Formats: sequence, C-alpha cells, structure tokens
Amino acid sequence: MSFVRPPILHKTHCYRLPLSDRQIKIIKMNKEQTNKLLSMYREFDQRETMRHFIPVEWNGKKWCAATEGHHFILIPENDENKLEEPPCKTVDIARVVPEFNCITEISISNLKSTFESIPLVNKEITEECDACEGDGKFEHYGEWYDCKTCDEKGIVGNGKFENVKDPNTAIKIGLATFQSRFIKTLINVIDYTNCQRLEIRYQKEAGVTIFELGNQILIGIASKYELEDNENVVTVA
Ligand SMILES: [Zn+2]
Repeated sequence: MSFVRPPILHKTHCYRLPLSDRQIKIIKMNKEQTNKLLSMYREFDQRETMRHFIPVEWNGKKWCAATEGHHFILIPENDENKLEEPPCKTVDIARVVPEFNCITEISISNLKSTFESIPLVNKEITEECDACEGDGKFEHYGEWYDCKTCDEKGIVGNGKFENVKDPNTAIKIGLATFQSRFIKTLINVIDYTNCQRLEIRYQKEAGVTIFELGNQILIGIASKYELEDNENVVTVA
C-alpha cells in the first residue's frame, strides 16, 4: 500500500453535543464481542500509542475504543466490557469525534453490493520492514537515514500473494470517498453485530466521516483527500 494520507487524529475540532434523542436500541456487547470488534481497528498499526484498547469518555458517556489512525470504533461501555486504563499514553480519540451534522441513512445492502463490485487483484502480502522497524527511517550513530529497504514506506512485500479487492478502487459514500479496506472493516462490524441500520452522522468532503450503527456503535473513517491518477471510484447508491 503506497498511499500516504494524513491521519484523522489531527483534523477535526473538539465538539461535544448530545447524541440524538431518537430511540436507539442498544445491544450490549459483552467482553468477548467488544474485544473482537476493537481488534478490527488496530491491525494496521502497532505503534505503542495505538496498540491498546482505550476507555474513552465522550459526550458524557463512556465508550470502549480502538484506532490505528485512519479509522476508529467507539462501543458503548456497559458492566461487562469495561476497559482498564492502558499502560501508556494513547491517542485522544474523544478529541476527534466531531459534532454530528447530518442523519443520512445508507442502505446496508447497497453498501455490500458496491463493495462486492470492486474487482479482485492478486497482490503481494506486505509486512513491517525489519530494517527500520516500520518507521521508514532509522537512526545510525545519532543521524537519521531514509530506509532504502522499504523505500521509506515502512512495509515490504514478503513474496506471498493473495487476492484482495483492488486497492486502486475507492468507494464513495455520501460526499466522501474512502479506501475500500476501511469499508471492508465497517462491513465486518455490521455483519458481526447483525446491524440492521447504518447512518452517516457527520460528514464533509474531507476529514473524518462518522457512521452510527443501529446498535449505537460509532465508526469514524478518514476520507481520501484526493484520488490517485489511476484510481477508480464506485459509488454507493
Ligand atoms: Zn524500512
């Protein structure tokens, strides 16, 4: 994956307005379900500040959260799924959840069929670069050097290939366009929680989009700032 995009964690301002008063059925996630969902949001980044599950207070409520920088999940806290304070300083997710500015229902079946329409491509599996430990640069006798092994990307191919959705096809949902792997995770959450309703609750063309699932789980996903030259877009009707 060669895309470089700014992480969402610096992009939005801090607002704390009430969630809507609409009747939302809260399906409690137990510890195991919560851990499973949180795990889906830290697989691409193992930096110390993003490795841990994070208890978050936002909007007067407590949430269980995880992020790898480009997308995050907030699960309502209950008696069974409470998180311990992480052992180190973590990113402040509450700071990046913006004031909701819309209620736009998205058809889950259209979302899934649009995702399915993205062609598969055979792609080399990547892993963290050993030479720079994923930083893209390394220190040598007090000087920092760009890592040539991974071309400063922090990841290298491991020689094995797999069929994946074409990374050069992005998905447009509402005003914003997303990298498909983040939408795949969103669909995994929808399936795992048997979610029947999906709404956009905050969106602008750039920055983070906040999705609210019918079970009150919140998902934030960074949109793409601009498309690559060779990039295609499929749109969720
Ligand atoms: Zn490297």
